[in-house]
Amino acid sequence: MKDCLFCKISSGDIPSEKVFENDDVIGFKDIAPMAKEHYLFIAKKHSKNINEIDEKSLVQVYSAIKEFTQKNNLEQNGFRVVTNVNEHGGQTVFHTHFHVLGGEQLKRFGA
Ligand code: 5GP
Ligand code: ZN
Repeated sequence: MKDCLFCKISSGDIPSEKVFENDDVIGFKDIAPMAKEHYLFIAKKHSKNINEIDEKSLVQVYSAIKEFTQKNNLEQNGFRVVTNVNEHGGQTVFHTHFHVLGGEQLKRFGA
């Protein structure tokens, strides 16, 4: 989608440090990490948030997260997946994305 930051990252118009890519999904490092390891996983196909993404894309993104976390010790060491919905839910980029946080003992979270 025009004027979408993560569509531009997906197409390569804006550079990112990619850690995963297949035909449908990319994973890349968050520019402002909130854990020792902090990645963002997105479907290349644009949607606004997890309530609006089509089910096929949702499965594709989660399959990618599963593959990545299993191959890179995140599963073994523990990780967290977060997705924010709308402004009051903390969403600032309106292309569905999943934060994958790990690489250290994570603090419990809350509001
Ligand atoms: P949200 O607040 O929408 O759940 O998360 C958006 C995330 O995107 C934030 O963690 C922010 O640091 C990250 N972000 C914003 N702009 C960029 C960018 O240009 N490149 C990368 N790699 N991450 C970004
Ligand atoms: Zn987009």
